[in-house]
Amino acid sequence: MVDKAVRPKTWLMPSTKCCLSIQGTDHHGHYQNAIRRAVAIPTLHRYLEKRHHWNTETTHTIDWDSFQTAARTYPGSRNHLLKLVYDKLPTNLYRSRYDKSKSARCHFCNEFETFEHLCLSQCNPRSNEFRINMMTNINSYFSKTNAPDSFSNTFNNAITVWFQSRSLISTPLATHMTNPPELWRRQAAIGWSQMTRGFLAKQWKTLYSQSQVNERLDCWLESEADNDVIHPNEDDEVSTISMDSGYNSARPQGLHPWSGNKDFLTPTRFMSGLIRTIWDTMTDLWQNHIQHIHDCASQIAQHAETKSIQDQIRALHAMQNQTMAAHRDKYFHPDLDQYLIQTPLAQMKCYLQRYQPVILHSIKQATTLATNAPKITNFPGFAYTAHPPRDLIHHVREEPIHWKHTKIWNRPITEYFKPTNQTIPSNSSNSFPAPD
Ligand SMILES: [Zn+2]
Repeated sequence: MVDKAVRPKTWLMPSTKCCLSIQGTDHHGHYQNAIRRAVAIPTLHRYLEKRHHWNTETTHTIDWDSFQTAARTYPGSRNHLLKLVYDKLPTNLYRSRYDKSKSARCHFCNEFETFEHLCLSQCNPRSNEFRINMMTNINSYFSKTNAPDSFSNTFNNAITVWFQSRSLISTPLATHMTNPPELWRRQAAIGWSQMTRGFLAKQWKTLYSQSQVNERLDCWLESEADNDVIHPNEDDEVSTISMDSGYNSARPQGLHPWSGNKDFLTPTRFMSGLIRTIWDTMTDLWQNHIQHIHDCASQIAQHAETKSIQDQIRALHAMQNQTMAAHRDKYFHPDLDQYLIQTPLAQMKCYLQRYQPVILHSIKQATTLATNAPKITNFPGFAYTAHPPRDLIHHVREEPIHWKHTKIWNRPITEYFKPTNQTIPSNSSNSFPAPD
């Protein structure tokens, strides 16, 4: 018989050349990977037990088959999946551990930014949208895979418990009386938050299988009851349903129309698809969050760049009077404030790139011209002759100078008082001849 069921032990065929058996599981190829995995798994389990405070019993209750199948068939980046599953996404709290200049707080509230906080917080619209999308995507998967209603309701309750795990009004476990107590206890030991990372209890697969059987039985019973109503005269041995007949899941197969319409998946395949659906929804949340942060940072950077460009243009216009006179109407805007308000950033950057060098060159030209020009006193028409200070010439005089007659003092006094050969009479010693 050949089907998709997993068989750890296989028959040795005559054509079998080699078979590697590790802990009860046969391997017929990829021996190195099998050996490495067998060696690494115990170490990985000890690491997870220490990280999530699990004991060995809890580790053994995890559905590792579904987890491995989901990870093996996950279409996204394997690096991202590792960070998502093991809570290594670069949130603010994670980045602050390696860069002390980074804040560990959330962008939107004062709590530490972890991915768990992003999933369960109400501080931003993307987190609220994530929780709606999570329920929508999970129920869509249930509908697509014809999941039994009892399983769907139980899993939705578990997701709701995770959503309310950080709120003050948490749902006590005692209120979920309809949920299987063993499953609830096992998953609580693993962690409700770890459930969305792919660490599901094995009891989920058991619940899925039992729900399948129960739903098929219910449908078969309903079908048989309808046949009783439609064909009341048929033989009682065929139409009468006895509740003590011990129905099993194999009995209704192929007997009724509903059995051909519902295509149930194997438990491992169903659970792996459910895990991938949860991972996809969480990945969408992370990408939306990163995109929003980058958009905000881009807007802040653009605003800062615009202000820097505007400041540089204002500084250039403040030097307008230092440029050559012929350039002052060519290089500068007449209404600077209006220009800075209406002009796009790219155009302002273009203006700055083109006119900043020529304005600086014009200022240099004007400065050189002003420095090399001769002083006004060096021109021929403005020749200057130094004279001695007037107070040094006449400092012995007590009376002010009569500049009207200055030219008289430049002539020797002998020109005014010419000597004569006449003898001065004795009786007229005080009389002098009058000047000419
Ligand atoms: Zn927050």
